[in-house]
Amino acid sequence: MTDLPTTQQLRDRARAALDRIGVTVPEGDDLHARSPITGERLFGLRATTAEQAGQAIGEAAEAFRTWRVTPPPARGDLVRTLGELLRTHKSDLADLITVEAGKIRSEALGEVQEMIDICEFAVGLSRQLYGRTIASERPGHRLAETWHPLGVVGVISAFNFPAAVWSWNTAVALVCGDAVVWKPSELTPLVSLASSHLLDRAIEQAGAPRELHRLLLAGSDVGAQLVDDPRVALVSATGSTRMGREVAPRVAARFGRVLLELGGNNATVVAPSADLELALQGIVFAAAGTAGQRCTTLRRLIVHRDVADQLVERLAGVYGRLPIGDPFAEGTLVGPLITDAAADAMTAALDRAQADGGKIVAGGRRLDTAGGAYVEPAIVRMPRQSGVVREETFAPILYVLTYDTFEEAVALHNDVPQGLSSSIFTRDQQEAERFLAADGSDCGIANVNIGTSGAEIGGAFGGEKETGGGRESGSDAWRAYMRRATNTVNYSSTLALAQNVSFL
Ligand code: NAD
Repeated sequence: MTDLPTTQQLRDRARAALDRIGVTVPEGDDLHARSPITGERLFGLRATTAEQAGQAIGEAAEAFRTWRVTPPPARGDLVRTLGELLRTHKSDLADLITVEAGKIRSEALGEVQEMIDICEFAVGLSRQLYGRTIASERPGHRLAETWHPLGVVGVISAFNFPAAVWSWNTAVALVCGDAVVWKPSELTPLVSLASSHLLDRAIEQAGAPRELHRLLLAGSDVGAQLVDDPRVALVSATGSTRMGREVAPRVAARFGRVLLELGGNNATVVAPSADLELALQGIVFAAAGTAGQRCTTLRRLIVHRDVADQLVERLAGVYGRLPIGDPFAEGTLVGPLITDAAADAMTAALDRAQADGGKIVAGGRRLDTAGGAYVEPAIVRMPRQSGVVREETFAPILYVLTYDTFEEAVALHNDVPQGLSSSIFTRDQQEAERFLAADGSDCGIANVNIGTSGAEIGGAFGGEKETGGGRESGSDAWRAYMRRATNTVNYSSTLALAQNVSFL
């Protein structure tokens, strides 16, 4: 375990990053910024009240009226400016991500890079919001489809990607002509203030409406306000399945739109033909990276019986050497869990796994530190896929199951309530294709010879079943942020009715 910085050092580092970005922290006693590195409080903050939140939604709705008629490439200019500011402040924002979410330096920088990437994607998109022309059955008619801005997008985000998830939604929503109201995780207020301030600066530079983006610094009660407000056309919510279960029916009750990015319980199949060295590297990053706190973290390893012992032994060897500790320190690969409660949940899950016949073959201990919840990533061999394995525990536990036939591996793989990310390591092309086929992996993300985590922004991101069904980021995910209109234009002098219906 590497030495930890003091809370005062973290406070100074956060303050310096905030100063460089130009943020004034709204000091108060309603909320606090803390760091999982020491588990201690950094600053007291003033929260957004319910009344202010209502006003912010109204302001965003007003800004939308101007923004929706601004030409999309001009909207792209704003997002380009945001991307440039993110480049300038990449290191500062990464500092804040490490301070508040505990990510190691390389992953924190990677998160900001992802924000820059989505800005670039969205700028290109601003000239590619394509509709289509459809063959009409009537002479002298044109049938077409056009896409229009939707309205106010309410973004609710989780602690573990405190800035990237916001940028996936916001960069795309802005080029689509929408306004955004953001309710970030209460665990990462400084990252939210900094990200939001960079967008405010971009808005000012681009001469766009000031109220196009509003930040609500508050708890889930204010999040619920976004959920219930009919002025919010789309609620894009990222977080636990528990949260999604509360949010989805409420938005549906008012016929609003919802985009859900919820929990995962991701698995990798390792076939007997797999390149085990490649598999080893992919598995360790996916399972232990970000201290097991990614929605795409590898939680279940489904290994062919012939290679299971060998692979688990090699994995246990690597796990025994993983540097755990200060995420700012060079060489650290595993930082802290976000809270003590997360470490308790890990311990409880390991107890349940053992009660179900599981055997811990690596890690699993909580390290003895004065503050901060540091744990050794764990590997547990399970005799079957019991209840605890079918749940998402947001901590670094890798359950290992064995299989004999490919059909058995796919059945085990799909037999969980979640459906986010999946992968197979194999050198057998038929097997790889079968994993990707309609009766293979049932997840939104299915990979070959790579782990489950670390998606690029170019593809659509999201999952099925209890993961919520939403898609964000690249590909055609932009359509969720727009409304579609079908247009029939008659340029003849005859009123021809569809399906040859005659009338009058
Ligand atoms: P969480 O569900 O505790 O909180 C997420 C956000 O929802 C927070 O901003 C919270 O304030 C808000 N919230 C909670 N209840 C609400 C309610 N009733 N109404 C409105 N807002 C509410 O999740 P977390 O602990 O911050 O993040 C971890 C979870 O997020 C994991 O389950 C992880 O898999 C998931 N996640 C999913 C994705 C994805 O893309 N699928 C990405 C990141 C995280």
